[in-house]
Amino acid sequence: MPMWFEETYRSQLRFGLRVTAYHYRGRSEYQTIDIFETETFGRTLALDNVFQTSVGDEYQYHEMLVHPALSTAPSIERVLVIGGGDGGTVREVLRYPEVKHVTMVELDRQVVEACKQHLREFQVPWDDPRLELVFQDGVTYLQACQDRFDVVLVDGPDPVGPAEGLYQSPFYSSCRECLRADGVFAAQVEAPQLMHEDFTRIVKTLRGVFPRVDPYFGPVPIYVCGSWGFAYATNSGADPLAVRPERAELVEPVCRQWSRDIHRAAFVQSPLIRRRLVD
Ligand code: SAM
Repeated sequence: MPMWFEETYRSQLRFGLRVTAYHYRGRSEYQTIDIFETETFGRTLALDNVFQTSVGDEYQYHEMLVHPALSTAPSIERVLVIGGGDGGTVREVLRYPEVKHVTMVELDRQVVEACKQHLREFQVPWDDPRLELVFQDGVTYLQACQDRFDVVLVDGPDPVGPAEGLYQSPFYSSCRECLRADGVFAAQVEAPQLMHEDFTRIVKTLRGVFPRVDPYFGPVPIYVCGSWGFAYATNSGADPLAVRPERAELVEPVCRQWSRDIHRAAFVQSPLIRRRLVD
C-alpha cells in the first residue's frame, strides 16, 4: 500500500496526501478509480490519479456548484446534472422540495457503484424517487436530448480524456438549447490562477455560446492550489446575485460553505482575472 497518494500537475507541481488505508482500487472502461482514507480529509476519491473529492472538503465544491444556480433560477422543477458520479451534486440539488425531477448523466457506472459502497459519508439519497440515473456520455446524451430543463449543472473532471468534450462549444450549445428560456446553467471551470489558461479559455468559450456568463469562485482544498472557478450562465441575462430568500432560508441552515454572504462575495473578480477575460 503506498503511503502517499500524489497528483502531478503538468510535471511541474505535485500535491500529495498521506494514505492510511485503501478501500477500493479499480479500473473501469474509462478510468482508474481509487477510494482511500487520508489523515487530512478522510475518505477521498481519485480518478486517473487526480483528486476529485473527499469527505473533508466536498461540501465546499458541491454547495458552490449547486446553490448559486438553484437559489436564483426562476423555476427548479427539472434539473439536469452531467457527470457528478460521487453524488454530492445531486444530494445538494435534492435538498429543495421544489425540485421534481433530477436527471444525472454519468459516463461511468463503476464510479457510482464504488462511491455508493465506499463513500457512504457523502449521504447521497440515491433512492430518492425524483432521481433518475443515466449512464452515458454527457455530450452524446445532450446531442439527442429533446427534454427541457430549468437548471443544467456540469460536474465533470479536468478537460482531458472522455471529459474533454464537456468544455467545448458544441456541448455548451446543446446545454443552452435544452434550457428553458429563463433557465440557469452552472459548471466547474478549473482553477483561476494555476490553470488560468484553461479557466480563461473555458469562460470565453461559454461567452461565445451564452448571452451572459459570470464566473465565480470558491475554495476547494483538495484541488491543486485550492482556489476553484465556476461559471453561471443564462440565456435571459438574469442577475446571478438575485437569490430568492425563501430558497436561501431553506438551505442555509444545512449548508457549511454557501450562504447569501458567500454567494455575493463569490462573484467578485480580481483585476487580473477580469483583464484576462476581456483580452
Ligand atoms: N468535482 C470533480 C472535479 O472537478 O474534479 C468532478 C467529480 S465527478 C466524480 C466527475 C465525473 O464526471 C466522474 O464520475 C466521471 O466519470 C464523469 N465524466 C467524465 N466525463 C464524462 C462525460 N463525457 N459525460 C458524463 N460524465 C463524465
